[in-house]
Amino acid sequence: MSDRIIRATAAHGAIRAFVAESKETVETARKLHQLSPVATAALGRLLVATAILGCDLKNETDLVTLQIKGDGPLQGLLATSDSHSRVKGYAFCPDVALMEQYKGKLDIGRAVGKGTLTLIKDIGLKEPYAGQIPLISGEIAEDLTYYFAKSEQTPSAVGLGVLVDTDESVRQAGGFLVQLMPDAPEEVVNRLEENIAHLPYITDLMDMGKTAEEILAMILEGLEVEVNDTVPMSWYCNCSKERVTKALISLGKEELGRLIEEDGKAELKCHFCNQTYFFSKEELESILEEAQKK
Ligand SMILES: [Zn+2]
Repeated sequence: MSDRIIRATAAHGAIRAFVAESKETVETARKLHQLSPVATAALGRLLVATAILGCDLKNETDLVTLQIKGDGPLQGLLATSDSHSRVKGYAFCPDVALMEQYKGKLDIGRAVGKGTLTLIKDIGLKEPYAGQIPLISGEIAEDLTYYFAKSEQTPSAVGLGVLVDTDESVRQAGGFLVQLMPDAPEEVVNRLEENIAHLPYITDLMDMGKTAEEILAMILEGLEVEVNDTVPMSWYCNCSKERVTKALISLGKEELGRLIEEDGKAELKCHFCNQTYFFSKEELESILEEAQKK
């Protein structure tokens, strides 16, 4: 089944909830970036979270980015989603060796290390909005929970999981985000806390064959769930030779002139999808001409 996110409310609007099934997207990222298992799990969690935030954006052209910088061997991760939960992302060090807490449990917190989580929302204003917190555990879900509490004063529960198979492919991936509105009654808060405290890992539930709807029902048991809709989630990179050309123009005349003189060609790689774009000397010369007009 293709990746998707279900959006719901519960307890007469006191709760909003999202549950994502994201195996294909994370597997695509793994293959494109040749991610090691711990990098797959870390970037996968970030991609799931970013896609959930993406489907919550208000306007068509809005973008949301989550960036993690840490002093662990992964160094950092970045993921961006548009308003249709089309995500892309990369790990700063995609080939970090296996790190386990115990056999079969990848140690993402240690791979990320100490650092920061930054959320950037580009909603078409002159400057994008950015909020930053120090990492709590580097496990990403806990860090995001802290972010929502600290930066948005919204009590939240976040669960993110990626289960990597013995052949290193993605066996399961998904996540949830549940947020409480400020006026949520205490019995609703207590019930939700209880449900979440008893919830197994989301990837274990998925591995048992539970669907996003069934997981949502478990999270919001006894809280009168109303499913609003289901939206697709997918991997998508919008890079193109045209966009890369614009980036080259923005290098400026001097830098372009130097490229033509010294290299006689250029080869640019997209960080997000590893697509390489080649530019011949002739192409660079016409780009330089374009830059000189500015
Ligand atoms: Zn790309």
